[in-house]
Amino acid sequence: MTFKPTDYLPYDFANRRHIGPSPDEMGKMLEVIGADSLDALVEDTMPESIRQKAPLEFGRPMSEREVLRHMREVAEKNDVLTSLIGQGYYGTVTPPAIQRNILENPAWYTAYTPYQPEISQGRLEALLNYQTMVSDLTGLEVANASLLDESTACAEAMTMAQRVSKTKVKAFFVDENCHPQNIGVMQTRAAPLGIEVIVGNPDDLEADKVFGAIFQYPGTHGHVRDFTAEIEALHANKAIGVVVADPLALTLLKEPGAMGADIAVGSTQRFGVPVGYGGPHAAYMSCKDAYKRSMPGRIIGVSIDAQGNRAYRLSLQTREQHIRREKANSNVCTAQALLAVMASMYAVFHGPEGLQAIAQRIHRKTARLAKGLEDAGFTVEPGVFFDTITVDVGLLQRGVLQHAVQEGINLRKVGKTKVGISLDETARSQTIEAVWRAFGIVQEDEDYTPEYRLPEKLLRETSYLDHPIFHMNRAETEMMRYMRRLADRDLALDRAMIPLGSCTMKLNAAVEMMPVSWEEFSNMHPFAPKDQVAGYTHMIDDLSDKLCQITGYDAISMQSNSGAQGEYAGLLTIAAYHRSQGEGHRNVCLIPMSAHGTNPASAQMVGWKVVAVKTAENGDIDVEDFRAKAEKHAENLAACMITYPSTHGVFEDTVHEICGITHEFGGQVYIDGANLNAMVGLSRPGDLGGDVSHLNLHKTFCIPHGGGGPGMGPIGVKAHLTQHLPGHPETGGQEGPVSAAPFGSPSILPISWAYVLLMGGEGLTQATRVAILNGNYIAKRLEGAFDILYKGPTGRVAHECIIDTRPFADSAGVTVDDIAKRLVDSGFHAPTMSWPVAGTLMVEPTESENKAELDRFCDAMLSIREEIRDIEEGRIDAENNPLKHAPHTMEDLVKDWDRPYTREQGCFPPGAFRVDKYWPPVNRVDNAWGDRNLVCICPPMDDYADAAE
Ligand SMILES: *Cc1c(COP(=O)(O)O)cnc(C)c1O
Repeated sequence: MTFKPTDYLPYDFANRRHIGPSPDEMGKMLEVIGADSLDALVEDTMPESIRQKAPLEFGRPMSEREVLRHMREVAEKNDVLTSLIGQGYYGTVTPPAIQRNILENPAWYTAYTPYQPEISQGRLEALLNYQTMVSDLTGLEVANASLLDESTACAEAMTMAQRVSKTKVKAFFVDENCHPQNIGVMQTRAAPLGIEVIVGNPDDLEADKVFGAIFQYPGTHGHVRDFTAEIEALHANKAIGVVVADPLALTLLKEPGAMGADIAVGSTQRFGVPVGYGGPHAAYMSCKDAYKRSMPGRIIGVSIDAQGNRAYRLSLQTREQHIRREKANSNVCTAQALLAVMASMYAVFHGPEGLQAIAQRIHRKTARLAKGLEDAGFTVEPGVFFDTITVDVGLLQRGVLQHAVQEGINLRKVGKTKVGISLDETARSQTIEAVWRAFGIVQEDEDYTPEYRLPEKLLRETSYLDHPIFHMNRAETEMMRYMRRLADRDLALDRAMIPLGSCTMKLNAAVEMMPVSWEEFSNMHPFAPKDQVAGYTHMIDDLSDKLCQITGYDAISMQSNSGAQGEYAGLLTIAAYHRSQGEGHRNVCLIPMSAHGTNPASAQMVGWKVVAVKTAENGDIDVEDFRAKAEKHAENLAACMITYPSTHGVFEDTVHEICGITHEFGGQVYIDGANLNAMVGLSRPGDLGGDVSHLNLHKTFCIPHGGGGPGMGPIGVKAHLTQHLPGHPETGGQEGPVSAAPFGSPSILPISWAYVLLMGGEGLTQATRVAILNGNYIAKRLEGAFDILYKGPTGRVAHECIIDTRPFADSAGVTVDDIAKRLVDSGFHAPTMSWPVAGTLMVEPTESENKAELDRFCDAMLSIREEIRDIEEGRIDAENNPLKHAPHTMEDLVKDWDRPYTREQGCFPPGAFRVDKYWPPVNRVDNAWGDRNLVCICPPMDDYADAAE
């Protein structure tokens, strides 16, 4: 001990928990990069002209205990009633085994999107189970691995129907029995694309007038009907039939596929994912095999690895936005992977009999509830139903609703005279009796005998979830081990740095995650009366205020569920503003070539024309080209979309000029805020000239990536755009909704809120400085061995850097893939590959990684460079070497070894841990094979022999 027990030790390193390097380590790192201090480095890196004037003022940072206490107080302002409002959101029981082993397990929630299949086999299998579940329940061949919410899934189905239908008409029919938010989001999406939305009764469908139609099943007020005839009529007119279906109802009712539907969509929320005031949950989409190439979102496929063993991977349009840009099927990038995993585990846990039993129980309770009401003289609609009924109460509506609230229950207000009731898995006899009391009926649930009021002709006739994975032993032991086994196959942030440029894989602190599971946040219905949600309102307002301060914007909309949805919402806001100025014709969007693929994909969704702007030699936006194009399109210039600091990892000092040019020619400036981690506390997009930005709360603000979602992509806007922000059918506003719920996925906002409270203004600013330090440290340590593609005028990078690996293709036949896979042997997830520049790696360490981990990574990279040199200088064969065989598995280690390098060299390169070595479960996955032989449901059980052992 170097200090005496009586020495005063200030316990002031609370926010040190988030920041990786210790002050001591920072000193050493600054020495390596040749900067006198952290401030000097920042001065050197960030042009003076972009620095913010005043520091962030959030008051004193809180300790972890203080944050939990404070958040508990705020949470308790939420008044969680039993909500029987339905309308797409239902009570559900999250099996504790899933809550603890998935939702609250960093091995699952800190994983990245499975672009690197070799280190993602666990979550890929879980998502394949999800696809199999969706495909089975809906009776359609192909399913994707989740969409953002049911409403956006409906909208995606609409535009997909337009892509695949053979008719030229421009109208789409929407069943009036769709949930209002589904109708709202489809209308929002349709308008800029020139699609006419016809809302009506399916009986009035004119199939020759539309390219497709969507029907809700069961309908928002509980009606259950067969759409076979309507879909036949659509097909006779080359139009597409879409059914938006409740997957739990499908365990009892005829599936969309059996009605001839081409596409099915819906929400898997009630498969064990709490309502959470609107999200996050996984929406699903499935379709006929013929349409799979037009499907939005990601599809997991089955392929083989280098040894011919089965391996999973993302297939087809993975990263389609990067390749197809404005021609992409959709802008969906971050989806809802973690929630899809939860829903699939719910199905694995319960199996088909369990799901059917749950559905039956809900139905029987609804039947008893209805009978009790009818016996008391109330008129109940519809005659047959699954879980939702509507009661005509005439003038009593207000009284019944109020009385229900006194009983601790929220019912749905339907029109001026009706009340809607949806039962769910959590409903008990007491619930039913309380509802009856709200109607003035006093009786006991026990008095009623079980009864079914399902439509006879619509009973399901086919089996589902036949695959053995859904027939595991029902004991929790087996389930727990299955989840553990899958988690162990994956390399997530709980094991190693994930240095993904632009993705900001930073610490997701345990304390930030805890409130997500609190009942007060997780069990709130999104359409609960305003006076019950004071806690949420407080949190959303406070977080919004802080985000305004951080960004320099005047207002925040929390509605968008991902960065790409934020882009879309932001561009819509701009479009609405132009219309309000009588400039609705403006439809040209300038986007630099280096932009993230979601940018052009989003611009296309608002019906704009994308004009690409060149990149100058040094990686900056070519200002001359930008000006020329702005001028050329002056008449119609709607906006530019730029990223700051640029996707090349540099603070461009021309940003003011770019914004100025855009404004000069009547456009608005959209600044993609994905790189905000390089700015918080030091520079504000709103001050640079931005009119709108989205923030990726799942990057900069600590929401974990969940293996490909959830996310939150709120947008900040300047005052003149505030009134044009997204509205919502339930909460009002001048514009339509972009998401199903008014605040997107609010149940994960406690994570970001806790982060800003814990860090305080100075802590956040320090995080930014250290992010810049860590980025520059890696750039410096790799200098000489690798070329760093772009640097600022002072030779510094921002918070990330691009490593050029293209020269090795010629010098050694080594590709960026080889390097990425070789890093797996060292126990690392590869950096961002081939974006924004093909054949390069983009490294972003974030502030959360300490010096030891950065060094481990640099050592691994430097040793890879030496391996390349061995090929270059002829010391090892160009085909038979550790890079080409990477990644190495345990199997490689133990079987016969005939390679020109040692087992030690192959399996334990620098960086790899000896005891805690990460072994990928498969060798390199064959992508082309997978696309040629696309299978996206679980293969037969024989192939699981391994997993079952
Ligand atoms: C991550 C990212 C996006 C998209 O965000 P999602 O949440 O995945 O939709 C957009 N632009 C940039 C630069 C990004 O890095």
